[in-house]
Amino acid sequence: MTIEIINPATGEVTYRHELLDRGGIETRLKAAADAFPAWSRSPVQERGRILRQVAASLRGHRDALQRAMTQEMGKLKTEALAEVEKCAEVCEYYADHAADYLQPQPIGTEAQKSYVRFEPIGCIFAVMPWNFPIWQVFRFLAPTFMAGNVALLKHASNVPQCADLIRTVVSDGGVPEGVFDVLHIDNDQAADVLRDRRVKAVTLTGSERAGRSIASNAGEQLKKCVMELGGSDAFVVLDDADLEKTVDAAVRSRFDNSGQTCIAAKRFIVVDAIADAFTRRFVEAAAQRRYGDPSDEATTLAPMARADLRDELHKQVQDSVAKGARVLTGGAPVAGTYAGYPATVLDHVTPGMPAYDEELFGPVAAVIRVRDEAEALHVANDTRFGLGGSVWTGDAERGEAFAQQMECGAAFVNAIVKSDARLPFGGSKESGFGRELAEHGIHEFMNIKTVYVA
Ligand code: NAP
Repeated sequence: MTIEIINPATGEVTYRHELLDRGGIETRLKAAADAFPAWSRSPVQERGRILRQVAASLRGHRDALQRAMTQEMGKLKTEALAEVEKCAEVCEYYADHAADYLQPQPIGTEAQKSYVRFEPIGCIFAVMPWNFPIWQVFRFLAPTFMAGNVALLKHASNVPQCADLIRTVVSDGGVPEGVFDVLHIDNDQAADVLRDRRVKAVTLTGSERAGRSIASNAGEQLKKCVMELGGSDAFVVLDDADLEKTVDAAVRSRFDNSGQTCIAAKRFIVVDAIADAFTRRFVEAAAQRRYGDPSDEATTLAPMARADLRDELHKQVQDSVAKGARVLTGGAPVAGTYAGYPATVLDHVTPGMPAYDEELFGPVAAVIRVRDEAEALHVANDTRFGLGGSVWTGDAERGEAFAQQMECGAAFVNAIVKSDARLPFGGSKESGFGRELAEHGIHEFMNIKTVYVA
């Protein structure tokens, strides 16, 4: 089957590619299984040396990676280049730290010796999204390599050139054949791959819908899975917040990457005392975002990745407005564009509206006005999602107490929620389970084995 890739900035078909047939999938599954014994037994220092070469290879291919991201999913050139550098850094982070994370951990018992060893388990199947098409892959790949596991990637169907370039980067970095490969397959084929006995676990970054499907398949096969799913992060503004700093962060957190970030601020929960002032400045700053060609460095708002996603977002806006939300800026597709949507702010968002209940995966901010801090906390937690959240206040201790009560995987005080190789990353509630990054991330797909010598 031929897949056509449409450049979201122009609407033109820029690339066509074929899905793998059964034979192509079998070859790669066999190569992964064959590569595992030698790779898993290689010294961790050797894997670290290779991972540093992969970091250098990423930097060497940065322009090609940037062009692929911009052409396939519309990412701004500046954001794409920053993404490549972040990937190189996560490789270096795990090259530096994995040996410590994989050290056996002694445990005091009555035995002569008892300890925990971390052992690789085999082939990890990764199903990844298009929104950070390089970062999401390296976020799992760097710890996977250092753990001694091998990996197969099914990337989102709209970023095949990004997937192929990742393969080139890894191979040019000196990773042996079979340790990593790309499967251009559809979702039914992905279900078969997950059922294959040579695949030991699956990691998904994507929507709730994909999560339910893949996690139930993994459950049936009794295979471990990590689910990094959607979010509707709260951005809570308390009455003593520094407005200038808060508004600047609000705009970046909502509109960077055209709002297509899992941990973007999506629900702006603002106490009444400061709501008018915050909203006025927020709207002014949002309206400055200039839609345009993502390759042009003057552009500050890129197209959305696909026209169907833009249409879905617009429907959520229209349904919210029909239920009483007010559009303060934006609110309709950018005229004459294929997938453009302007920076949009909706005010007076309340329960029952899509902007309150659902994830808005694009450049639309929902402002929810609340009486006080207690109501702000209630609203922040009044969601089925639990990825991240932030609180903005002039009093760090007050913020910390608030953050501790937020039901999510990462709560930030006076800072934008971000992923950082040093900090564990993942969700609670229907945003998923399992952790990536830091020490927690490398242990997810390892056998945590007890050894007891009486
Ligand atoms: P998506 O439609 O779920 O796609 C993600 C990946 O899953 C793609 O490779 C897709 O393949 C695949 N997929 C979808 N349904 C599948 C199924 N039934 N079986 C097997 N594979 C399946 O999500 P998206 O639109 O690309 O990404 C946006 C979502 O990802 C948002 O909800 C966002 O919040 C979430 N996200 C979460 C994180 C996190 O770390 N928690 C990070 C980034 C994004 P096809 O393209 O071939 O359909």
